[in-house]
Amino acid sequence: MDLLDEGIVPEHAREAKAEARAFAADEIEPVAAEKFAAGEYPWDVLEAGMDAGLVAADLPEELGGRGFDIQQILAIAEEFYRADAGIGLTLMLASFGCELVEQYGSEEQHEQYLRPVAQNDQISGLAVSEPETGSDLAGMSTSAEKDGDEWVLNGEKYWVGNAVEADWLTVYAKTGDRDDRYGNYSLFIVPTDAPGYEAEHIPEKMGMRASKQGHIVFDDCRIPEENLVGTEGGGFYALADFFNHGRVVVGGHGLGIAAAAIEEAEAFVHEREGFGRNINEFQSVQHILADMQTEFRAARALNWQAAEKVKNHDNPGYWAAMAKTKSTEVAVDVAERGMQLHGGRSIFTDRRIARAYRDARIPVIYEGANEIQRNLIYRQTPR
Ligand SMILES: Cc1cc2nc3c(=O)[nH]c(=O)nc-3n(C[C@H](O)[C@H](O)[C@H](O)COP(=O)(O)OP(=O)(O)OC[C@H]3O[C@@H](n4cnc5c(N)ncnc54)[C@H](O)[C@@H]3O)c2cc1C
Repeated sequence: MDLLDEGIVPEHAREAKAEARAFAADEIEPVAAEKFAAGEYPWDVLEAGMDAGLVAADLPEELGGRGFDIQQILAIAEEFYRADAGIGLTLMLASFGCELVEQYGSEEQHEQYLRPVAQNDQISGLAVSEPETGSDLAGMSTSAEKDGDEWVLNGEKYWVGNAVEADWLTVYAKTGDRDDRYGNYSLFIVPTDAPGYEAEHIPEKMGMRASKQGHIVFDDCRIPEENLVGTEGGGFYALADFFNHGRVVVGGHGLGIAAAAIEEAEAFVHEREGFGRNINEFQSVQHILADMQTEFRAARALNWQAAEKVKNHDNPGYWAAMAKTKSTEVAVDVAERGMQLHGGRSIFTDRRIARAYRDARIPVIYEGANEIQRNLIYRQTPR
């Protein structure tokens, strides 16, 4: 059973998918359980991913990347997350935030910051969420004030992928106090060795353990004035636009985890015996497996339809929010059912089903909790 078959994937993205599948089989699957247990940053797998040309592949070819589009990145996400969500997140996050610099940044910023990431000499991250809120993008309090030819940042960020490991981050900070709160934010490139930048890892997580997030404190953190990305006050709109289409890839995170859960459930019920037969012979078990597949394939069809809409700029926020919501919730649902079918063995921490169950709790939250997605779907419904 190939749940992540290439039939639904546009032809130009199939080569990237095949590369990601081969890499996942060789480099992620064999170490997934061990890396999950260790809960450490998987530098070795990240470096192998770089050697394979599958890290920061979305950055433009002229800067050293491969210029992959959203459909190619979605194809990679499904395969990586099927093998392990934590490692998948680490590999995909190595260039997080770069797209904003690519779209809104200057030529100089492209050369100085994007090129090293595209060439896999550096890694980046995106710092938006704060200890007091992650959902309210116009309610963040980290500030940036102009002082001569520098910006001075103060405040805290939380949950930031690569906060400790990255060379630089795209940071979202408050630069104004106008009544229109959407015009009060700007984006900045902050090198992690800037004076006044401190980061430490957040506490141990139950899922995606082979990825690392950090808590950042900016204490009069000084960066040059030219590190403003785009226009002052344009940060909210730039970020909303970025999330609006990037979320279609988070749907792929859910699909990869869901595929892993269904595979595990299928394999288990065909081996496990009870009442003198294999438990797959009970009709109620068969119906559960049938429902898991039906839900999965419906989500995947929606997700790939959404990816095309996003690529064609056809109401992308609406489609990406729907795909993210559906695919990530199907992951939670099939992981839960797969756990039940595993009986008591479901709770052994080294089981792949238990990993999928714990990992599935995360994409329903990150890049905007699904309640926020529902707000976006309703608001952007074509009427
Ligand atoms: C593993 C992981 C990696 C992450 N990586 C990053 C990263 O690299 N960079 C970054 O900036 N952030 C990152 N995040 C943060 C993530 O984006 C936030 O956790 C998310 O946006 C939710 O914010 P919050 O946790 O503060 O929840 P809150 O905003 O406090 O919301 C809590 C809950 O309240 C409900 N809620 C909130 N607002 C509404 C509403 N308007 N309507 C209905 N219900 C609502 C929802 O159920 C929501 O889940 C990461 C998070 C995780 C778990």
